[in-house]
Amino acid sequence: MKIGVVGCAGRMGQMLVREIAATKGATLAGGTERVGGPALGKDIGALAGIDPAGVVAIDDPAVLFAEADAVIDFTSPEAVERHAALAAQSQTVLVIGTTGLNPRQTEAVALAATHTPIVHAANMSVGVVLLSKLVEQVARTLGIDYDIEVVEMHHRHKVDAPSGTALTLGRAAAAGRGVPLEEVWQKTRDGHTGPRKAGDIGFATLRGGDVVGDHTVVFAGEGERIELTHKASSRVIYARGAVRAALWARDKKPGLYGMEDVLGL
Ligand code: NAD
Repeated sequence: MKIGVVGCAGRMGQMLVREIAATKGATLAGGTERVGGPALGKDIGALAGIDPAGVVAIDDPAVLFAEADAVIDFTSPEAVERHAALAAQSQTVLVIGTTGLNPRQTEAVALAATHTPIVHAANMSVGVVLLSKLVEQVARTLGIDYDIEVVEMHHRHKVDAPSGTALTLGRAAAAGRGVPLEEVWQKTRDGHTGPRKAGDIGFATLRGGDVVGDHTVVFAGEGERIELTHKASSRVIYARGAVRAALWARDKKPGLYGMEDVLGL
């Protein structure tokens, strides 16, 4: 399967290039970078610190979508809309790891998925998908006597908050309680907030250093507290999950899939 990487010089992009090169049954179809970016014209293997791949980073994603069987996108929310439209047009598998999509961008992805298989997940690691299932189950069992708080920490370069994964975990907890997350989330607290409202799901965001991604869901009751935690120590888990998703989606019908589908959960 020929897999391309949009945003191939980014932190995740380079990891993806290395993972594709090392995966049996996958070959590098090419890579793109944003217009005017310093990586353009450079070999995408060399950019990722491995042997030259024989293809250079280009700025026209249409060329890559025409060439590839699947494209993996860890770029920016603005870029995702265009990539989703190109995937629909060329009926290329698209795997999206980019987080922080607004409702219009999310809608564009859903529309494109009526034409081609798209796997979209805020966190491509097997561990986090399992954690999400556990959170839903625990939230369902405990009910609203236990206050739910989602705490996350990421490196200083992360631009969106709370993290896409924190929101996914919050959504899993809300699903366990049978309510839409948007009705109960408290994404920030500042000043005189008053007491905590029963049923709220709170978020706390920490940023600093080179932390790859830590998430804890706290269920705080009277007299006890349950904490479910996942700590990522290498981004390779996301790249591995994304490549696995691309290979899995190859013979699937058009549709919007999550990592639970890829993992058969
Ligand atoms: P990064 O800034 O290091 O990389 C993004 C790359 O995309 C940059 O090289 C940038 O130049 C490029 N880019 C931006 N717009 C582009 C365009 N229009 N065309 C081509 N390239 C373009 O960021 P990162 O740390 O690699 O993270 C990227 C995204 O992936 C973020 O949204 C992050 O939250 C998300 N992420 C998701 C997961 C997951 O498992 N789903 C894991 C890690 C990161």
